[in-house]
Amino acid sequence: MIEDNLNRIKEKIFNKCSEVNRNPAEVKLIAVSKNFGIGYIKEAFTAGQIDFGENKPQELDGKAKLIDEKICWHFIGNLQRNKVKYVVKWAEFIHSVNSLSLAEEINKRAEKLGKIQKVFVEINTSGESTKQGLTDELEIETLVYKIEEMKNLKLTGFMTMAPFTDDENKVRKSFKFLRMLKDKFVKNGVELKHLSMGMSADYEIAIEEGATMLRIGSAIFGQRDYSKSWKEL
Ligand SMILES: *Cc1c(COP(=O)(O)O)cnc(C)c1O
Repeated sequence: MIEDNLNRIKEKIFNKCSEVNRNPAEVKLIAVSKNFGIGYIKEAFTAGQIDFGENKPQELDGKAKLIDEKICWHFIGNLQRNKVKYVVKWAEFIHSVNSLSLAEEINKRAEKLGKIQKVFVEINTSGESTKQGLTDELEIETLVYKIEEMKNLKLTGFMTMAPFTDDENKVRKSFKFLRMLKDKFVKNGVELKHLSMGMSADYEIAIEEGATMLRIGSAIFGQRDYSKSWKEL
């Protein structure tokens, strides 16, 4: 089932890229395996999936320890400073940097491990207070330039979640905003490569608006059952 889902999604990504004249090689699919057990991850890996996303520090740590496969881990969830150690140890990318103090802590941990940690600044483009991320332009600018000065961080782009709605225009507006924000910084000489946006319900719109990393969970693994822990699944 997982393999079929992956193939169907990859085909959709390919078709959408062709439609809007984008190179599919520039759109990375991250399989969001949160709340699913390692059997699911291994099955997807066997089907050729390399990039996986997790949103809880200890869950990432627990899974990564149990898996020998050469996975590229992405951390996409809310991160508290005291949990940074679990994440920097494993994550190739951290998508959810939303404060200076968090960036400083990640930088410190990365330095200890002798690692350059690739990070995204998370932007709240939906105005929904339940979502994480920065909204204030000055705050965003300050964080971007501070991260640029940190030796063990490499800023690679911006991340956002679209509003939870069927209204395609609102979703698109969110993605457009992120793209324009990135373009603005690039114009000012900041090297930003990636836009992390698009989930199961809206990834085709995200591709149209320039996404380079899609974070897709339920369309690959099925509905999440939060009454169970990943250890039981
Ligand atoms: C869970 C999650 C996703 C994936 O959501 P699906 O709707 O299952 O595709 C993407 N991004 C973040 C930040 C998430 O927490």
